[in-house]
Amino acid sequence: MTDDLKAKIAELENQVHELEKDLIHDSLTGLKTRAFFEEETNTYLATISKAVEGGPRKNWFGFRNLSILFFDIDHFKKINDTYGHDVGDMVLKKVANKINKNVREGDTVARWGGEEMVASLLGANEEDAKDKAERIRKKIEQLEFEGKPDLKVTISIGIAKNFENSTAKDLLKNADLALYEAKRSGRNKVVAFSQLK
Ligand code: GH3
Ligand code: MG
Ligand code: MG
Repeated sequence: MTDDLKAKIAELENQVHELEKDLIHDSLTGLKTRAFFEEETNTYLATISKAVEGGPRKNWFGFRNLSILFFDIDHFKKINDTYGHDVGDMVLKKVANKINKNVREGDTVARWGGEEMVASLLGANEEDAKDKAERIRKKIEQLEFEGKPDLKVTISIGIAKNFENSTAKDLLKNADLALYEAKRSGRNKVVAFSQLK
């Protein structure tokens, strides 16, 4: 192989590596991407279904619960309008970081789009998920931003738990409905899908 060809192959490999990275990681926040999150959640759910079908002795995966948290920053448009887009970006990064730091290792946090983020909590039933969401909600409320003493950020959170043969889409839809109720009832709140009437 000529050196020229070798260089070309190395360059292509590099490009593939970069594309892979972009497919998995959101460049602004460093969180996982939506595509990665959906695929991973479906893999977990399929594994849980199999374990349940196999009975308790075959439950090698170690958990049967999986809960989704759906986060949406409150009045983010106003933050952008008041402080500018760069500050908006900084807020997004800080919020993403705070969420990521407050889930367990093995749990996944992804940027769903814009100022919306999602997390999958492995082994968490609805009560566990509510506790976790409430703790994160409070931590976001307490965030301080350098040079912006008046900037206050809050977040609304919707929760959904897995059910028989549920898919990632089902859980995200239910969590989104719960999130809508959290917004409707005043924001800076945690609402679980099971609480909806
Ligand atoms: P609500 O409390 O109902 O969620 O109100 P909101 O203003 O947060 O909701 P809305 O969806 O109307 O606004 C989201 C804003 O997020 C609009 C968009 O300009 C902004 N946004 C989306 N992506 C980014 C980004 O990457 N950086 C910044 N700075 N802003 C973004
Ligand atoms: Mg939104
Ligand atoms: Mg919002």
